[in-house]
Amino acid sequence: MSEDADAERKMQFMFALRSRGVTDARVLHAMEAIDRQRFVTGLFAARAYEDMPLPIGCGQTISQPSVVGLMTQALELSPRDKVLEVGTGSGYQAAILSQLARRIYTVDRHRRLVREAQALFDELGLVNITAMTADGSHGLPEQAPFDRIIVTAAAEDPPGPLLAQLRVGGIMVVPVGQSDTVQSLIRVRRTEAGFEYDELRAVRFVPLVEGIGQE
Ligand code: SAH
Repeated sequence: MSEDADAERKMQFMFALRSRGVTDARVLHAMEAIDRQRFVTGLFAARAYEDMPLPIGCGQTISQPSVVGLMTQALELSPRDKVLEVGTGSGYQAAILSQLARRIYTVDRHRRLVREAQALFDELGLVNITAMTADGSHGLPEQAPFDRIIVTAAAEDPPGPLLAQLRVGGIMVVPVGQSDTVQSLIRVRRTEAGFEYDELRAVRFVPLVEGIGQE
């Protein structure tokens, strides 16, 4: 691709994000800084700047960029936050988070995805991300509590261990729904009194699956 065509695509990418409701300047800045093409390999790399989910390894997908932007925005991150992401996938969402928070722990049930994502984080110098192979439906008790939790696979309900590992004053964003076709993105705020829920929009994610992947 010529440099001009590349710049043009990146401009359209940023425009698509804005027009789909990603308006937070810090989030947009992070998404401009992290090149999505690095996280998409093979046949689909040429489509990295389109606002659509794309296949990665292990039958999983890298999320749609506007959804990454909206979820990041919904987390209301502060630079001091310690964040848990469940569902590393390509590592793209974690890389965006790394620009906006102090420390990111990201877990995936597929060892290969974690290995590849960690290699990319190292290459890009994103030193505040730690990627681990784990069943994220149990959270990451050894690093809890978290200021923010983001789940990038759909659960039937917000998993209890994740709610328990959210700090008072913390925010969790999680897609929930029973069907594979329509889920709602939920934001949970933990207060002194309990949990407050609000529904943000309809989304579609791969399911949260228990246990470690067998490769
Ligand atoms: N955030 C990713 C996209 C995630 S796709 C990105 O930016 O590319 C959803 C991921 O969740 C998949 O990689 C899948 O392996 C993972 N996943 C599903 N169930 C899980 C579980 N119980 N624990 C950890 N990861 C899980």
